[in-house]
Amino acid sequence: MRVLITGAAGFLGSHLADRFVQEGHTVVGMDNLITGNMDNIAHLMGHKRFSFIKQDVSNYIYVPGALDAVLHFASPASPNDYLEHPIPTLKVGSLGTHNTLGLAKDKGARYLLASTSEVYGDPQVNPQPETYWGHVNPIGPRGVYDEAKRFSEALVLAYQRSHQMETRIVRIFNTYGPRMRLNDGRVVPNFIHQALLGQPLTVYGDGSQTRSFQYYTDLVEGIYRLLLSAENLPVNIGNPNEMSILEFAQAVVEIAGSKSDIVFVKPQDERIADDPKVRRPDITKARTLLGWEPRVSLRDGLAETIEFFRSRIH
Ligand code: UDP
Repeated sequence: MRVLITGAAGFLGSHLADRFVQEGHTVVGMDNLITGNMDNIAHLMGHKRFSFIKQDVSNYIYVPGALDAVLHFASPASPNDYLEHPIPTLKVGSLGTHNTLGLAKDKGARYLLASTSEVYGDPQVNPQPETYWGHVNPIGPRGVYDEAKRFSEALVLAYQRSHQMETRIVRIFNTYGPRMRLNDGRVVPNFIHQALLGQPLTVYGDGSQTRSFQYYTDLVEGIYRLLLSAENLPVNIGNPNEMSILEFAQAVVEIAGSKSDIVFVKPQDERIADDPKVRRPDITKARTLLGWEPRVSLRDGLAETIEFFRSRIH
């Protein structure tokens, strides 16, 4: 296959590019580098089956040659980033999804959208199955991301129904691993960074809010299987191992062998407005349709991620 990956210089986009190149496919990576980083794909530059185009997919995009698949992973994805770039976040989820769908239609390519557990908002159902419609505040600080992704799902389904396109939607739950930005503001880089520097880990609120963390290799496997499957409707890919943020902080301190304290803070800005109180994927659909389930334990995944951040800090 020859595949276009938007957001290819990001955390997930770059790992996906690696996987497709390893499988023998040809990858065209695209990124405008507002949150992506060329370091993530430096090792691919010069590879005969990889090329890179620096472009903003919210503007008209042109890609010469045939394409068999388009994977749309471009978007700011950390709450800090989408608070800092609210309009680009809305544009890449709406105009960027429209442009990449148009490109896929033109090329007769299969289309895969990176959606998110944020479409469920602050859920009133736990765990969240794909049939849950969500509980989202459209005008809160997270609305720019959540609504952009909800709109993009609607657009993908409209293209699939109107143009009989082959489309896939992956709803990605919290994912971590090497190549996350040390300063992206999310809980995994924040806590690891703090633990490695011996600074206190900053738990927002009382730390009772929950998340379920998956290692990036599990996610990449799920996405690869989903692309090759026949499922047009959204599929959750996440690790159902739910824990409170306080428990997560304790795990990071222990696995990093850190002496850091854990403190409870209330950030001054809007960062924790509408912070979902629980989040856990129901992965029955992925298990049944894709034969997929997560393989990597939190301990192993965190150990590798801590090593990555340790090398960056030094
Ligand atoms: N969080 C925290 N301390 C931090 C950063 C985040 O306690 O330094 C909390 C945040 O309030 C949320 C959870 O960790 O409840 C996950 O936040 P993240 O930004 O990683 O992503 P989200 O899952 O909210 O999109």
